[in-house]
Amino acid sequence: MLGRLARYIERRWDFLNMLKHVRDSRQNSTIPTSAIFLSVFGMHSIRLGSLNGLEQQLQIPGRWEPLVGPVKPSADTVAYAMERCDPEPLRMMLANAARLAKRKKAFKRLYPDTYWVGALDGIETYKSKKGCCENCCQRNVGTDEKPIIEYYHREVVLQVVGVTPACILDEEPVLPGETETTAALRLLERFHTRMPRFLDVLTMDAFYLQAPFAKRALDLGYGLVTILKQENRDLYRDAEGLFQITTPETAALVNGTAEVWDVKDLTSWSQLGRPVRVVRELKKYLKRERVANNWVERKVVEDWRWVVVFPDGQQPPTDIIRRWGHARWDEETRGFGELTKHWHLDHCYHHHPVAMLAIRLILYLALFLTSLFFQRNLQPEIRDGKTRLHLAGLLADDLVRGGVASFWEKPP
Ligand SMILES: [Zn+2]
Repeated sequence: MLGRLARYIERRWDFLNMLKHVRDSRQNSTIPTSAIFLSVFGMHSIRLGSLNGLEQQLQIPGRWEPLVGPVKPSADTVAYAMERCDPEPLRMMLANAARLAKRKKAFKRLYPDTYWVGALDGIETYKSKKGCCENCCQRNVGTDEKPIIEYYHREVVLQVVGVTPACILDEEPVLPGETETTAALRLLERFHTRMPRFLDVLTMDAFYLQAPFAKRALDLGYGLVTILKQENRDLYRDAEGLFQITTPETAALVNGTAEVWDVKDLTSWSQLGRPVRVVRELKKYLKRERVANNWVERKVVEDWRWVVVFPDGQQPPTDIIRRWGHARWDEETRGFGELTKHWHLDHCYHHHPVAMLAIRLILYLALFLTSLFFQRNLQPEIRDGKTRLHLAGLLADDLVRGGVASFWEKPP
């Protein structure tokens, strides 16, 4: 099925034209950049967990040539080239694929909406007691007397939410000594320059409720929906006071009800310099769970609060704001859940800041394009009820089967 995937992304997703722009700064290399990229793309598509695993596969005569071409890299060459890879063309590939998917109406809405919503999130992709590169952040996981230094990498990731398939748009590393919002702003400026009208709204964790970040994001034209927690004392207290004296709307849930408050024109976030809106949702529902071989129902109470502010004073309906707030956690939307579970997202293929970034950008592209392929190009009876792991196995079958000179119509 890898052959079908290749022809599909070549014909429909302009894949090989985009691939022409991918470059690295190796001198006098005998292995073309396209062979390196396609090896990594193939590695992710069939879910191999390491560069050595990839090398073992590549060494089998005749197996990977149809995908990669006649000259195949070793694990060391892949690592060396990834260290020298320019991440910009990779980001461009992700951007182009997303833009094309939007134009082709390939995104399916998980709920009716006319806005395009992105979620900013921090992820941790590496942690270890040993090994340090120039981008490793450090923290003490011991005590002051007996410090134990742990090295870690953290990234900010922007992804589309409220739609399927999951699509990650960009990633930016958090550098040692800087905050996540600093990295997020760098990401946002770059993304906005490249795709100024792709997203209308950003939905974020409480950590992003910082005036400098919010001001800049509003200047760029984004509406902001950010979780409100007690740490933002003035705004939280003022909103709380209004909730006490306002009658909530009641909404029906599948297994319970939600009380919803929506208060506007709060001015207590003084650093922002403009009024904001706070939406609160108090959910009470019964959750069915399996405990020791029995199904039991448990009462669950969830109390959500979001700060909402739009650059032009737009006031989208309360219902849609609740959707956006929860969309960050949607199973189907969450690329990360699946990426960590099945795609080795938190696995470090090669500890080097540029290589790690490049390998992950190719991973996001593989996740998105294979998802589109499975969703749009496979018969439901082949696709439905099958795990992505199973589908990755189907992709790998073509490599084993052999007998094809190239999967591509116009091999790179
Ligand atoms: Zn590092």
